[in-house]
Amino acid sequence: MPEKILIVEDELSLQETLAYNLKKEGYLVETVGDGRSALTSARALRPDLIVLDIMLPEMDGFEVARILRKEMSTAILMLTARDDEIDRVVGLEVGADDYLTKPFSMRELIARVKAQLRRARLLREEIGNSRTEDIPHQTLTFDNLVIDLTRREVILNNSPIALNPKEYELLLFLAEHRRQMLSREFILERVWGWDYIGDSRTVDVHVRWLRQKIEENSSEPKRIVTVRGGGYRFEG
Ligand code: CA
Repeated sequence: MPEKILIVEDELSLQETLAYNLKKEGYLVETVGDGRSALTSARALRPDLIVLDIMLPEMDGFEVARILRKEMSTAILMLTARDDEIDRVVGLEVGADDYLTKPFSMRELIARVKAQLRRARLLREEIGNSRTEDIPHQTLTFDNLVIDLTRREVILNNSPIALNPKEYELLLFLAEHRRQMLSREFILERVWGWDYIGDSRTVDVHVRWLRQKIEENSSEPKRIVTVRGGGYRFEG
């Protein structure tokens, strides 16, 4: 099955160039030119990756990413036209997996697309391998919070909670280093990897999301605490 990519770009010539080049790489490609169609297509297609422009008619890329993030764990590669958008892409509520600043080369784009899809594929394989019936569930339990490593599922108060793949990896990493002070840089390197382009604000954003999902009161976190001088500690 070829991997599916949704391209959301309103500049037609760029949309066509992107589609042409990604199809040539063997991907199944769909294109749309505005934010609302992006939501509709993403829900119908369930793409493996979305290439998402920010400045779009109807609804901008930030809003599209924010909505889709809650619904699916599809990788999002954002296209930014201005430097001042980058802060929002990596540092705020958006949660793109990666971004490219226009203008960019097709070689660069394809490299980034492949990297994201490789990551997603590895994740799926891990899930697939762990679905064997006779393997007992490996879990980490912290009171009412259970991380099921076998199913890559997190259960809070007996109900599963929806985490995107990065949130899950981050939580697992923190939990495996319980009560240790972990610097943002160390977390970034170990959870996102050496090749990750973003900066350590990415860690803060994901910690904030995790807190909203697993803390009783995310403004007074008890599980993931901030350590003065630059890091986080998982208390359990
Ligand atoms: Ca645009």
